[in-house]
Amino acid sequence: MARREVVRLPVAGQMRDHVSYSELRLFEQCEWKWYLVKALGLGADERSLPMEFGSAIHSTLEKAFSPDATPSQEELDLEFRSAYEKNVEGLELQPHEVEERERLRELGPKIVRDALACPDLQGIRPMKNELALMVPIARTDGLDVKFKGFVDFVYAKRLKTKTVIYIADFKTCTWGWPAAKLMDPKVCAQILLYKHFFCKITGANPRDVSAAFILLRKTPREGDSSVSVEKIGAGPKVLQSALDFLQGTITGMHSGEYRKNRESCVRRWVDPVTKEDREARCPFFETTECPSADVPGVSTPR
Ligand code: SF4
Repeated sequence: MARREVVRLPVAGQMRDHVSYSELRLFEQCEWKWYLVKALGLGADERSLPMEFGSAIHSTLEKAFSPDATPSQEELDLEFRSAYEKNVEGLELQPHEVEERERLRELGPKIVRDALACPDLQGIRPMKNELALMVPIARTDGLDVKFKGFVDFVYAKRLKTKTVIYIADFKTCTWGWPAAKLMDPKVCAQILLYKHFFCKITGANPRDVSAAFILLRKTPREGDSSVSVEKIGAGPKVLQSALDFLQGTITGMHSGEYRKNRESCVRRWVDPVTKEDREARCPFFETTECPSADVPGVSTPR
């Protein structure tokens, strides 16, 4: 079912001179979609309620863990609510999302409270929020490409024998992540690349820097915390795998041949809260940019 479309490079003047982790994942998901969005600059508005909720939570946690100020709980509640209202304004909701929008409005302040009370985040020294990375990537083919990223949260924590710097990324999720996802090299590549390039620009010893995902659960069990810190092992093998993913994907992006991944056109799943069937389609599905007929889609098992 997969097919390759060949295009002549450079397109749209020139290829971009930087690449981000989300671009690597987009390319992996569907090379043709990456080409349409990143090389041709075609819009693909994929705003969604979970994304807008995640964005409001992120900005509130930035304030909660600011290196410069300690806002009160009331100020943080207000911050979340106004960011959330602004984000969801004008968003087209599916019928089942109307109730969910209200539930998430109430949940936001709990997640922020749980983050501030999280045992792994006690005694930390916040250093930086949204740390921008734009670091040259060493290539053997002469391509001048930089790695672009924003580290959600950098903090220091005194352990028994030394102080460790944590490079952390906030992730909103439904129940949490299964162990397999926390060990998935392509998932972990994000935080490992952030750590790698952070050490490169600061000169920090990688042994003194840890990588972590801070999981923010949207459906925590009754009485449970909605926040946990998941440290990601960063040994030489996993780091090499992340760097190989980066380098191999950049090579593919500059190849001029892009695969249409028909298995990514339609995604189907079962809503974990309501148990109803859900479906999401690629915005280019059956458009002039990507006409198609027989598309099976992919379903997650019940
Ligand atoms: S419709 Fe399918 S093949 Fe086409 S760009 Fe989207 S995911 Fe790729």
